[in-house]
Amino acid sequence: MHWCERADLIAAFNEQFRAPVRLIQENRALALAEVGTRASASDFLLVDFGDGVGGSIVVNQRPHDGNVPAAGEIGHTPISGNQRECGCGNRGCLETLIAEPWLVRSMAELTGDPEVTFAHVCRAALGPELPQFLMEALDATAGAIAGILNVCGLKRVVLTGHIRELGPRATDHLVAAIRRASMWSRFDTVEVELAQRRRARGLTIAGIQRAAWLQGCWEMSTPGRSVEEIWTTPKGGSMIGVSRTIRDGTLAEYEMILLREVGDRLAYEAHPSGQPAATFLSTRVTASELVFEDPAHDFPQQVGYRIDGEALLAWVSGSQNGKVRRIEFPYKRARCAAP
Ligand SMILES: [Zn+2]
Repeated sequence: MHWCERADLIAAFNEQFRAPVRLIQENRALALAEVGTRASASDFLLVDFGDGVGGSIVVNQRPHDGNVPAAGEIGHTPISGNQRECGCGNRGCLETLIAEPWLVRSMAELTGDPEVTFAHVCRAALGPELPQFLMEALDATAGAIAGILNVCGLKRVVLTGHIRELGPRATDHLVAAIRRASMWSRFDTVEVELAQRRRARGLTIAGIQRAAWLQGCWEMSTPGRSVEEIWTTPKGGSMIGVSRTIRDGTLAEYEMILLREVGDRLAYEAHPSGQPAATFLSTRVTASELVFEDPAHDFPQQVGYRIDGEALLAWVSGSQNGKVRRIEFPYKRARCAAP
């Protein structure tokens, strides 16, 4: 959308709706919904077929971000022999073969009937043989998908959108072509799943996903004292953290923390040993920093985390008896022990 390149979309929405607004790219929302829906934790490529074709690679339960805002643009892979002009400014892009309006156009060109709709394409796909234009479009799609699987070392693909409406003959052809073209098929099975679009679910998960970098095991130790903190993966709009302090071989303190979405914010519910529970609301959530506050709390009034590679700085701060106090926990990433 070239008109919005210089527009502050969030501010515009805020003004219209007077509600907190967060933006997420559609394919990332669909991919996050898959993360939340399947128990399996394996990495995958999601490809969605609609007016265009987009994808998202999920690694360690998180959609992969590139350095440029073009991650997952599988639909703009040029396909040899295809001369169609694409909306992106290039020629021959995959989506000009397999996206819904383009399938309709292919069939209209073939039959000379300008009244062709997607329902006609779906009916033709159920016939005894797949129409040639559709078979070629599916083969091109499989090649582009297999290329990503081969390069990224993935063995699972989730397909959403109109591809399911084309019926089993088309989807079986696509699945077989993906497997044929994928290196991993020489050794084991490439899983290909057809799934529903679950946008709303993805949007819900996107909230807690912003704190996903906290997951894993963290440790700090000084002579005679060690502190551990462990965070689960984000699921069901929540993450759970536990921490304990061992002093001279004895449990000195512990804490359980529930981090969850409350409206557009994250709530940090701390249950420390020997103290009443307290809830802090997020005031800052970025790709490397989380800050939670409760100005009414005695001490601390702020809790924060900042990640820098394998280092995690956790801190609490606030004023106590008129003095500003800050306590830091410089953690390092630790191996989470396996049984
Ligand atoms: Zn394109």
